[in-house]
Amino acid sequence: YAAKQRNDGAVVYDPAMDKSSEKSLSLLTELRNAIERNEFRLHVQPKIMLDTGKVVGMESLVRWVHPERGNVFPDEFIPFAEQTGFIRVLTRWVMERSAELCHELASKGHHLKVSVNLSTRDLLDQDLPAKFADLLARHKLSPGSFCLEITESAIMDDPVRAQTTLERLSAMGVDLSIDDFGTGYSSLAYLKRLPVNELKIDKSFVLNMENDVGDSKIVRSTIDLGHNMGLRVVAEGIESEAVWRLLAKMGCDQGQGYFMSRPIPGDQLIGWLEKWQAPIAIAAPDDIEIA
Ligand code: C2E
Ligand code: MG
Ligand code: MG
Ligand code: MG
Repeated sequence: YAAKQRNDGAVVYDPAMDKSSEKSLSLLTELRNAIERNEFRLHVQPKIMLDTGKVVGMESLVRWVHPERGNVFPDEFIPFAEQTGFIRVLTRWVMERSAELCHELASKGHHLKVSVNLSTRDLLDQDLPAKFADLLARHKLSPGSFCLEITESAIMDDPVRAQTTLERLSAMGVDLSIDDFGTGYSSLAYLKRLPVNELKIDKSFVLNMENDVGDSKIVRSTIDLGHNMGLRVVAEGIESEAVWRLLAKMGCDQGQGYFMSRPIPGDQLIGWLEKWQAPIAIAAPDDIEIA
């Protein structure tokens, strides 16, 4: 039954909570079934060098094809999956599919680093480094073929434990990235001590940076901050050639965005790679002003 804690500590029955917990229970059941029924899809979005247009990596982004509701986007179920702990099952699924795809691409001559998103729960899993080592061994992949993306808030949930896990992963040789940089509450003093290789600028600063002087200043400062800390800097949310050129001029290393490609089903990536042509003259854009 549904119970609610009162201010005085007593527990009262709350019919409204019955409904919501019923709903949660059925969503959890649906998620569990989704694995068995093969309803998750691995989509990937290419990661591209902004000076040369070369494709160097891809980010795995999960999709759920629900039998009645159709395409369900991660923002609608990842937070719930995190609350319930289901995320560990999902992360495992995404890791396996990513490793398979990475291996297949490499066998066809495309050596791309694959980025996988981790959540707080994954970081708190003491066995994560061992599971990851096992995954690499089974798929005959080097640790350098993976990048693990973690948000600031996932780290700040339990900074001490996160640091331990990240140090163990880093020692194995995997790349670590801070995702959605600039939107969380991490302290720079803390970031300085983390063994990360990459900083990803959140798309909210990138989407409209060619028209918004404030955004463009934040992006430029973040690129400089990342480089001063010895990190690779990646921008997400590049929707136009103008933004690409601006970022290239600011010295941003890599980028992702709808301008290059939306996230596409993993099995379509080879076809996309064969057709991909970087817009010409990206490398020498001396004709634009930086705000
Ligand atoms: P994220 O890791 O920051 O991923 C970037 C999001 O920005 C993706 O949304 C991507 O489709 C979107 N994006 C990329 N380029 C553009 C662009 O040019 N314009 C716009 N408007 N959006 C762009 P998506 O796929 O809906 O994923 C949302 C979030 O869900 C991800 O944010 C990530 O935090 C989470 N997520 C996705 N897949 C997984 C997963 O397998 N595991 C975990 N733990 N989280 C995941
Ligand atoms: Mg990400
Ligand atoms: Mg991000
Ligand atoms: Mg994001």
